[in-house]
Amino acid sequence: MSRIRVLTLNAALGPLDYRLPHGMAAEPGSIVIVPLGPRQIVGVVWEEDSFPETETVGDNRLRPILGVVDVPPLPAPLRRLIEWTANYYLASPAAVVRMAIASVSALEGARTVLEYRATGREPTRQTEKRAQALERIGERQGLVRELAMIGGVSDAVIRGLIKDGVLEGVEVSIDTPYQEPDPAFAPVTLSHEQIAAADRLIELTRAEQFQPLLLDGVTGSGKTEVYFEAVAEALRMGKQTLVLLPEIALTEPFLTRFAKRFGHEPIAWHSGLRQSERRRAWRAIADGSAKVVVGARSALFLPYARLGLIVVDEAHETSFKQEDGVRYHARDVAVMRGLWEQCPVLLASATPAIETRHQVALGRYEEIQLPARYGGAVMPEIIAIDMTLAPPERGRWIAPPLVKAMEETLAKSEQALLFLNRRGYAPLTLCRHCGHRFQCPNCTAWMVEHRLTHRLACHHCGHVVPAPKECPECHADDSLVACGPGVERIADEVTALFPHARTAIVTSDTLWSPAKAAEFVRDVAGGAIDIIVGTQLVTKGYHFPNLTLVGVIDADLGLEGGDLRASERTFQQIVQVSGRAGRGEKPGRVFIQTRLPEAPVIKALLSGDSARFYATETEGRRIAHAPPFGRFAAIIISDEDPAVAKEVAHRIGNARPKVEGVEIYGPAPAPLAVLRGRHRHRILIHARRQIDVQDVIRDWLGQVQWKASTRVAVDIDPYSFV
Ligand code: ADP
Ligand code: ZN
Repeated sequence: MSRIRVLTLNAALGPLDYRLPHGMAAEPGSIVIVPLGPRQIVGVVWEEDSFPETETVGDNRLRPILGVVDVPPLPAPLRRLIEWTANYYLASPAAVVRMAIASVSALEGARTVLEYRATGREPTRQTEKRAQALERIGERQGLVRELAMIGGVSDAVIRGLIKDGVLEGVEVSIDTPYQEPDPAFAPVTLSHEQIAAADRLIELTRAEQFQPLLLDGVTGSGKTEVYFEAVAEALRMGKQTLVLLPEIALTEPFLTRFAKRFGHEPIAWHSGLRQSERRRAWRAIADGSAKVVVGARSALFLPYARLGLIVVDEAHETSFKQEDGVRYHARDVAVMRGLWEQCPVLLASATPAIETRHQVALGRYEEIQLPARYGGAVMPEIIAIDMTLAPPERGRWIAPPLVKAMEETLAKSEQALLFLNRRGYAPLTLCRHCGHRFQCPNCTAWMVEHRLTHRLACHHCGHVVPAPKECPECHADDSLVACGPGVERIADEVTALFPHARTAIVTSDTLWSPAKAAEFVRDVAGGAIDIIVGTQLVTKGYHFPNLTLVGVIDADLGLEGGDLRASERTFQQIVQVSGRAGRGEKPGRVFIQTRLPEAPVIKALLSGDSARFYATETEGRRIAHAPPFGRFAAIIISDEDPAVAKEVAHRIGNARPKVEGVEIYGPAPAPLAVLRGRHRHRILIHARRQIDVQDVIRDWLGQVQWKASTRVAVDIDPYSFV
C-alpha cells in the first residue's frame, strides 16, 4: 500500500492523501491528476512528512492517483522555495505552487500548433484591410490571432486570406528547441573597472554556491554589460540564468540588447504569452534546454532544471512587490531561491534600497561598485527650480527656466524628457458651479480625466465612464474644470510652447505591450521624437544618447502622504530619471521643479551626496525601529458589506495578542477605505527584528472565524500602507 501526499492547486483544499496504484511511478515533485468527487484535478506529489496538519483518511478509503503528467518533477530546491514562501508570507502552499505550474494547459495538449504564413500569391479580391494586413505581416508567421494583431485587422480578414490561399498553414512543434545564446557571439571590450567587476561575477558563478551580491553602479556605468559576462559564464557551464526585470515594458529592449551580445534572444516569460508559447517555454525551462529566461516576477517560481545564476535588474524597484494574491517581494524571494539552488544572486541598481544596503553593511551581501559612467560620459548637472520664486503662469506647470532649457535643447537638435508620475490629463475634475467632484463609485478615489481616450477612469479599479459634457448634479453648462496636471496636460503645454516639436507621451496607457515599448524605443533612438513626457515608466533602463535634458515637473509629489519610504522613493525616482540624461557623448542637464528646495532629499539630489542622504535615512529608520531594523506586517480586512468589514476587523482587533516587542495599531478604516466595492480596514503590526511575526499572526488569526465573503489578507513587509 503506498500512500502519497498530494498538494492540490486548490487553495481551499490544500494537501490530500492518495494511493499510488501498482505499476505507476511518482516521486516528490511529480505532477499528477487525482480524483476529487466526480472531478479530476491537478496536484503535485510532496514529501510524506510535509504539511503535518493534513487531515488523513484510512488506508481503505484512499482513492488512487489517476495519472502522472509527462513532465519533469518539480525539483527539490523549488519545493523548498514554495514551502518557504508560503510560510513566510502566510500564503497557502497551493497558491504558491500554482505560480510554479503557470497553467495546467502548459502541461498537456497537442505537441503541434498550426501557424500561418504568406504564400506570395495575390488575393483574388484585394481590399484595403487585406493589403494592410499582408504588408504588415510580411515574412512573419503565426497563429490566426497573432497575425490579426500584427496586421491590425480582425481574425475574419486573416481567415479570408487563408481560404483564398494567400496564407498557408505550417505545423509547428511545441517541442522545437530554442536557439541557444552563444557566449562568444559578440563580447564587448570592458573597461578596467568593468573587468574587475565581471571577473568577480564570473568567479562567483563558477563557484556554484549561494552568494547574494549588490552590483551598485551609477546609471550608465555598464551594469548590464558586466552581468552579461556572468551570464556568458553560466552558458559555458551549461547552466540556466534567470533575469528578473521590474516591468514587462522593459523586456523588449532587453531582448534586442541580449541578442546583440549573444546572437539569439533569451526566452521571455510574462503574462502576455500565448498558451502555446507558455507551454513551449515552461517545458524548455523544466528540461533545462531554455538557457536564459527573462521575465517579470512570475518567472521566479518556474521549475528551472539547472539554475546557475539569478539577476534582479533595477533591484530597488517597488514593482517587484506583488500587491495581490500571494503578497511576496520578488527580490527577497529571488535571494531565497539562490539559497536553495546554491547559486549567486546579483542585485543590480544605481539606487539600491536601504534594506539591501543594510545586508551589505551586515556582511551578508557582497558589494561591487561601478562609480563612473562608461566611456567618459559624465553625470548630468542637476539644477533646482524653486517654484515659489520662478513660478509658471497660472494654469501652466513648466517654469520659465525649464522652458528656456528646452528651447536650447531643441535648438541643438537634442532630445528632452519631462517626468511627472501621473497618468492622464488631470487627477481631479470638478464643477465650478456646484462643487461636484467626480468620484469612483467603487473606490475612495477621484476619477482621472484621460483626454486621449475621452474618458474618466479610476486608477484603482479600472472603472471608466465617457467624459462628461455637463455636471451631473447642477447641469450647468461649461462648468467642469480640470484640477492639476497629468502627463497629457503637460504634453498639451509642450505643444503650445513648441508647436513644431514632436512629442510622445509615455505611460502604461500608451506603452501597454512589449511591442509598443519597442516602437517607442525605435522612434526615440531614430530621432523621430523631440520631447518625451512620461511617468515612472520612462525612468528605467532606457538608453538614449541624444537625450540631454530632463525636467522633473513636480519633485514634491512623492513626498505627499509620506509613508516610511517616501523620501527614499523620491530620491530613487529622480536619480533614475536624471540617469536618462547625457548618457552619450553630450553632457546632460536636469531641472528639478520643487516648492521644498530645503527638503533633505532635494538637497541630496543637488549635491549628489547620496551617501549622506542614505546615512540620514537609515539612521531615521534605526531610531524608529522601522525596516530593516524592525518589521512591519499588515492585516487588511475587507468585505462588500461595510458593517461586516468593521465587525470582523474589530473582532480580530479584540483578539490581539500581547507579545513583548510587538505593537499593534488599529483596526482603522484604510486610507483607501473602499476598493473595488469592498470596504477595507487595516491593522498594522510593528515588531522588533528578532520576533517571529508570522507565528504571532498565525496564532492570532487562528482564533478568529469569519465568513468566506470577508477577505482577511496578511501583508508581510508591506510597501503599501493605503
Ligand atoms: P547601466 O545598466 O549601468 O545603466 P548599461 O549597461 O546600460 O549601464 O550601459 C550604458 C551604455 O554604455 C549602454 O549603451 C552600453 O551598451 C554602453 N556600454 C557600457 N559598457 C560598455 C563597454 N564596455 N563597451 C561598449 N559599450 C558599453
Ligand atoms: Zn475605482
